[in-house]
Amino acid sequence: MHMFTIIKKDRNSKARLGVLKTAHGIVKTPSYVIVGTYGQIRYLSPSDIKKTKTQLIIANTFHLWKVANKKPLKFGKISTMTDSGGFQVLSLAFSDKNKAGKFMTGTPDANTKLKRDKIKITSNGVYFAFNGKRLFLGPELSMKIQEKIGADIVFAFDHITSPLDTYAYNKKALELTDKWAKICLKHKGKNQALFGIVQGGLFKDLRIKSAKSIGTMTFDGFGIGGSYTKKQIAKVLKWIIPHLPEEKPRHLLGVGKIEDIFEAVENGIDTFDCVIPTREARHGRLYTKKGTIDIRRGYFSKDKKVIEPSCGCPTCSKKISRSQISALLKNPIRKQNTKGQRLCLMHNMWFFNNLLEKIRKSIAKNRFIEFKKKTLTNFLSQY
Ligand SMILES: [Zn+2]
Repeated sequence: MHMFTIIKKDRNSKARLGVLKTAHGIVKTPSYVIVGTYGQIRYLSPSDIKKTKTQLIIANTFHLWKVANKKPLKFGKISTMTDSGGFQVLSLAFSDKNKAGKFMTGTPDANTKLKRDKIKITSNGVYFAFNGKRLFLGPELSMKIQEKIGADIVFAFDHITSPLDTYAYNKKALELTDKWAKICLKHKGKNQALFGIVQGGLFKDLRIKSAKSIGTMTFDGFGIGGSYTKKQIAKVLKWIIPHLPEEKPRHLLGVGKIEDIFEAVENGIDTFDCVIPTREARHGRLYTKKGTIDIRRGYFSKDKKVIEPSCGCPTCSKKISRSQISALLKNPIRKQNTKGQRLCLMHNMWFFNNLLEKIRKSIAKNRFIEFKKKTLTNFLSQY
């Protein structure tokens, strides 16, 4: 499937501009991918979403499994992705202390022994208990469910590991990821692009091995999975990217903080997904060029300014003030509260999508590194 075209490469980094074509539209890359776990973004209609410059939405196979027959992905002209469900199933094995988060925020507790006694992994997939039921999910079934859900881009079922896993365990997991990748290719859905996933934890030789192996398979693009701290992202990408085919798109799974976006793009990533824009909006944390504000703080109930004067989002361009949003969020009437949530979501999603638009412009002018420095200096200055 020919779906990706590289338009320009940055002179001073590995950043690149591209166009990803799907049945639902054109995605200009680098692009943020907004997370709609259950096949929707709560409080927003498809036309609301379109107004936030959203180009791509990723939904969750594990959460849509039961309703997959109903074709739950309806986002109009916005392109969609689904993950394989592997992450949810495999992370059921872990407690909070040693979880295999897509992105590690804390330090793993080295004294916690990593056991996987809650799940059983076989060469065909994973047996697990969920809501008192014994269930199974593997590569073949994941592909079938993902075909029913009907996203434009789907991901292979892979074996994610935890940062606490040993070298030997990661090596073994890679063998399964490779085996499952081949099964996924065999059962690829019609009219869907399939991305293979590179794993290998924080081990250089395993990452390279995985990139070489997955990279030579006939995938339409590649996902990079795993758990790492911020500092490790660039390092891991520098190991992997040279071994992936240049002409195919690359997606970084579960990464999307402002600083991480720049690291990813600088190292040649085309798309990445993260819950940050939506989750932070739901907690009242709103993004501005100078950092974030917590709109729920008392101070904002008297603040007549818009969230950010230079912002062109549907909320700020209608001149809805911080005090108005604050009042809606405090309103006990559900409908009013929902209105407030919607305004916050639209602002944050627009903020991230607009930042990516600016990043694309900076790459076009070979000014990406300059733009990165300027944006991060401003953003980290805070209020
Ligand atoms: Zn705004």
